[in-house]
Amino acid sequence: MARRARVLATLGPASDDPGIIEAMAAAGADGFRLNFSHGTHEEKAAEIAAVRSLEGRLGRFLPIIGDLQGPTVRLGDFQPVQVSRGSRVVLSKDGEGVPVPSDEFFRLAEVGDVVTFEGGRIPARVVEKSGSRAVVEIMVEGVLAPRKTVAIRGKEYDLPSLTDKDEADLRFIAEHGLEYVALSFVRTRDDVRRLREALSELGSDAWIVAKIETIPGVENAEGIAEEADAVLVARGDLGAKFPLEEMPFVQSRILEAARSRGKPSIVATQLLDSMMENPVPTRSEVVDIFTAVRGGADAVLLTGETAAGRHPVESVDWASRIVARAEEGYSPGRSPPGRDSPIYDSFALGVVELAESIGARIIAYSHGGHTAMRLARYRPSVDVHVFTPNEGVARRVSMLWGIRPAGIAADLDLEGLAAEARRRGIAGEGDRLVLVRGMRSGATDLLRVEALRPQGSGRSGARSRRGDPRAPRSALLGRAAPRAHGLGWSPTSPRK
Ligand code: PGA
Ligand code: MN
Repeated sequence: MARRARVLATLGPASDDPGIIEAMAAAGADGFRLNFSHGTHEEKAAEIAAVRSLEGRLGRFLPIIGDLQGPTVRLGDFQPVQVSRGSRVVLSKDGEGVPVPSDEFFRLAEVGDVVTFEGGRIPARVVEKSGSRAVVEIMVEGVLAPRKTVAIRGKEYDLPSLTDKDEADLRFIAEHGLEYVALSFVRTRDDVRRLREALSELGSDAWIVAKIETIPGVENAEGIAEEADAVLVARGDLGAKFPLEEMPFVQSRILEAARSRGKPSIVATQLLDSMMENPVPTRSEVVDIFTAVRGGADAVLLTGETAAGRHPVESVDWASRIVARAEEGYSPGRSPPGRDSPIYDSFALGVVELAESIGARIIAYSHGGHTAMRLARYRPSVDVHVFTPNEGVARRVSMLWGIRPAGIAADLDLEGLAAEARRRGIAGEGDRLVLVRGMRSGATDLLRVEALRPQGSGRSGARSRRGDPRAPRSALLGRAAPRAHGLGWSPTSPRK
């Protein structure tokens, strides 16, 4: 059976070559993240073009996530310095020692605080502080390098959720029609709302991935999951904010927040960290990915491994193999819709249970992707094909657990869906289909069941053609079924 949880890869200097991107997709990458903390718009445009041009060749939709830098503090530009345990380093806003170009950092830092560099890798204690200058004592040796993040353990910067840079990046993301926008350092659901407004002003309907990587973000995980379209467990920055032994609890809490709100979740960072150097993962990394999948994650996202590591393609290959193996013999739990969930969520649950009970595959029409998200939420054990006339929506839903998108030319009713599934070879003689869609965009409220009969044996569905002029004639009379075009290919080939 095709893999259901997704494997996503971050593009970066180690992987932004079209050949490597193609090799990663062939090795099982289901989508890509562009990290706007690094690189130029020109580089991003080239990466986008490379990913888009692959789709036709591979016959698969490949969604792209534009990841905003968000309200963070990074070191300025300087020559990297090797630091050892106990050594003292001067941080200043302008000139002396290592540059930290941020008023907010110097406002917040106090003597006794633990400052961490590079997503927590190098912790240091503040031993002196006056104005825009601080002296820190290094606690773990390493190399301080330009542009790396600077966090203060147990504290949060009070910065706007969308910086000027983010707004410029957002315009670029909207112009290039990326399917997802990731919001870094989300603190509250209002941060997500603000991004949604900004996107709609730019005419983008991208789905929002809320990156949970702050203390308030974890505390507000449930509300954030409700507001966002997906949540991401950003373990890199989380590890700089929480004691590391808290990490499993933080991860489970975020996954549960997403699951109970019916939103997809992504687990990221240091999944295969040793593969930055080595071509084979450690035992514990294999178990970590297994744990994420069995813990209910919809996707795992490789970060440094593919962006800056020595083995981007092997990393994707390993992640894909581990996820596929973790799914074998596993039936994920199903969390029922809450009391105030839309009735369509309950409808989708009924659809999934019906399809499973009669051994049918689900064929859905999804206009904006909501029907697909509702179905994925209940982790159907049967195949789910989602037909949509919108290429961006097809890409979006291809990131959802177990959903297989297919591009179609135009809106289809339930009978049209059955004919289209048969025409594409998704379903044939003897197959049972559960066909589902909404009366209007955003709804999931129409259902039909059908057992496909042999071609030419009479009625193809439950409804008599005589009684209904809209009944599917194509399979019987050989009249042309609605053709899929526009995409120029049939993006329904099996996944790895
Ligand atoms: P980043 O996010 O790579 O943008 O920092 C991931 C993380 O913090 O884990
Ligand atoms: Mn981060």
